Amino acid sequence: MSETQSTCCYCGVGCGVIIEHEGDRIIGVRGDPEHPANFGRLCTKGSTLHLSAAPETLAVRARHPQMRPHRDAPRSRCDWDTALDHVADRFAAIIAEHGPDAVAFYGAGQLLTEDYYVFNKLAKGLIGTNNLDTNSRLCMSSAVAGYKMSLGADAPPCSYADIDHADCLFITGSNTAFAHPIAFRRIEDAREANPAMKLIVVDPRRTDTAEAADLFLPLLPGTDIALYNAMLHVMLWEGWIDTAYVDAHTEGFDALKKVVREYTPAMAAEICGLRKQDIETAAEWFATAKATLSLYCQGLNQYASGTHKNSALINLHLASGHIGRPGAGPFSLTGQPNAMGGREVGGLANLLSAHRDLSNPEHRAEVARFWGVDDVPAEPGKSAVELFQAVQDGHIKAVWIACTNPAQSMPHQALIHEALQRAELVVVQDAFAHTETCAYADVLLPATTWGEKDGTVTNSERRISRVRAAVPAPGEARHDWAIAADFARRLGARLGQAELAERLFAYDGPEAIWNEHRDSTAGRDLDITGLSYALLERDGPQQWPFPAGAAMGKIRLYEDSVYPTDSGRARFVATEYTATAETPSARYPLHLITGRLRDQWHGMSRTGLVARLYNHEAEPLLHMHADDLARRGLADGDIVRVKSRQGAVVLKVLAADTVRAGQCFLPMHWGGNAMAGTLGINALTPDAIDPYSKQPELKHAAVQVETF
Ligand code: SF4
Repeated sequence: MSETQSTCCYCGVGCGVIIEHEGDRIIGVRGDPEHPANFGRLCTKGSTLHLSAAPETLAVRARHPQMRPHRDAPRSRCDWDTALDHVADRFAAIIAEHGPDAVAFYGAGQLLTEDYYVFNKLAKGLIGTNNLDTNSRLCMSSAVAGYKMSLGADAPPCSYADIDHADCLFITGSNTAFAHPIAFRRIEDAREANPAMKLIVVDPRRTDTAEAADLFLPLLPGTDIALYNAMLHVMLWEGWIDTAYVDAHTEGFDALKKVVREYTPAMAAEICGLRKQDIETAAEWFATAKATLSLYCQGLNQYASGTHKNSALINLHLASGHIGRPGAGPFSLTGQPNAMGGREVGGLANLLSAHRDLSNPEHRAEVARFWGVDDVPAEPGKSAVELFQAVQDGHIKAVWIACTNPAQSMPHQALIHEALQRAELVVVQDAFAHTETCAYADVLLPATTWGEKDGTVTNSERRISRVRAAVPAPGEARHDWAIAADFARRLGARLGQAELAERLFAYDGPEAIWNEHRDSTAGRDLDITGLSYALLERDGPQQWPFPAGAAMGKIRLYEDSVYPTDSGRARFVATEYTATAETPSARYPLHLITGRLRDQWHGMSRTGLVARLYNHEAEPLLHMHADDLARRGLADGDIVRVKSRQGAVVLKVLAADTVRAGQCFLPMHWGGNAMAGTLGINALTPDAIDPYSKQPELKHAAVQVETF
């Protein structure tokens, strides 16, 4: 048996794993005791990774390229040259007739940094379109926009080690126990070591995380800003503001004070459905602790007010001086294994390499010079929701989807399915052939996946870890970066840019790509010019920034209280509470909240292959309060139709005391069957987006529930 060190491919904790393998088979996996994210621990998902790579899962793997002459014909096997030449012909024809913005790429936070880099260069450097977005838009873009708005840069300032130093933890919009289980183990350890540590949990649902809280605030969905503003109101009233910090290192506090003056605890209690005294206690614990650490995730991000929710929370940290010190700061938990790495290389429609902004002409010129191309287009690309809307209305004719399943994961699924049906060309590049999106693929390109590929990922705490191949690719599957680079060369020839494409994509492996990415970060906030594959090999995973000459990366940012804004000061954002995109009405009287289960991940294309992971919850169940069941004459186990303004799903109901009356909950993981015309959970969610981050409101919809 051989062993290979790698990284778990699920959540943003980014646990180190040791893959045990024999020949071309992965036979086991265990936690890497040397990895600083998990010190040898794994959750149920990570510890069953080898089962998701068992021989029987080959049945659902994409192993050979496939094509079909038209949408109604079945796909048949072809060779790589035929598939890539066909796609290059079609892309070139569409670009010639309609311009470069008639094509688009949609990727994933599961791609490795090297994969992301090549796709980004292909779209923005060769084709000349910024239509490259990813499912990171559904995950972290409000956290990104919040950090930039308040602190000046897309840089989580904290580390997992801060959990050990905090004496107040404020978990808001995150069921950490389920979504980031190994981070939650660390919280449990820290509380055991420091029994005086206070744990406040804010969540509409009494989750497993909430069960562990010293103070649980079951707020009404989407009312977070009212709560945070009221907490700041209390801090001001009680004199708990760190005025020295505010005066020396921030700006905009007077404008914010005017806003929060109106947010009395009594007023917020009414908006949030909370007890006034609980808001006051939360404010006291948050402000008067020696070090308060906030942990937050999709409960903040996946709302049409997601950016302002993030900023309102950061306001609390700035006002109380809980930032830039051990155990203190706003720490966004990344949902995906490499949403961070994707942003580092500029893998979103509004970004460029090394956290450069597309809207900044100097940044565009820097990237063009670095790549050796004439320019990078100024026209912003389409964000995830906008991108599929443009496919649906015909402005985007060809879409290339890599390593993700938008037919399951995007909101307003009916529109996404219609878009994929209407597209002139759908290319799907994936390791798995059984996803809802694959049903729409005109061309299916088989990709390698966890255990088969090399590269890097960056976790929530800015830590870059190596991902390593343990076994060969099945069938003819190829690495994601290699498919994109091969296609780029073929397309370049058809666009009259053969020499340019050969030069831009002359990579002999992931290390060459990563070195180019590294060089692009010189002088930027995420400068990693002091890092190399060799150093990662020798010293293990490292945090950025890690500039040339540094002995190590930064554990936490802003310890000098200097912020990357024009003034060097952090910015208070004066923001008001706004209601959810959909509010309950007579026709749709219930708040629906979506969320994660402990043992499933995203659209289940991998966890759904492991029988053991269904022991926790075997099917999607609508969690409903007993009062709401009784009002409808329903009983536990009945089949119901859940209907929103967007669509409907049929499933079983579960009597649950974890949701309040007037609310219900569905796990996000299950999709439908595209061929049978059924849609999954996201048939219900709206495609309303945050105006700053463009992140959709996947967390909430107004629904009706009726007997089926
Ligand atoms: Fe993988 Fe996240 Fe579980 Fe760690 S906590 S083993 S990264 S799923």
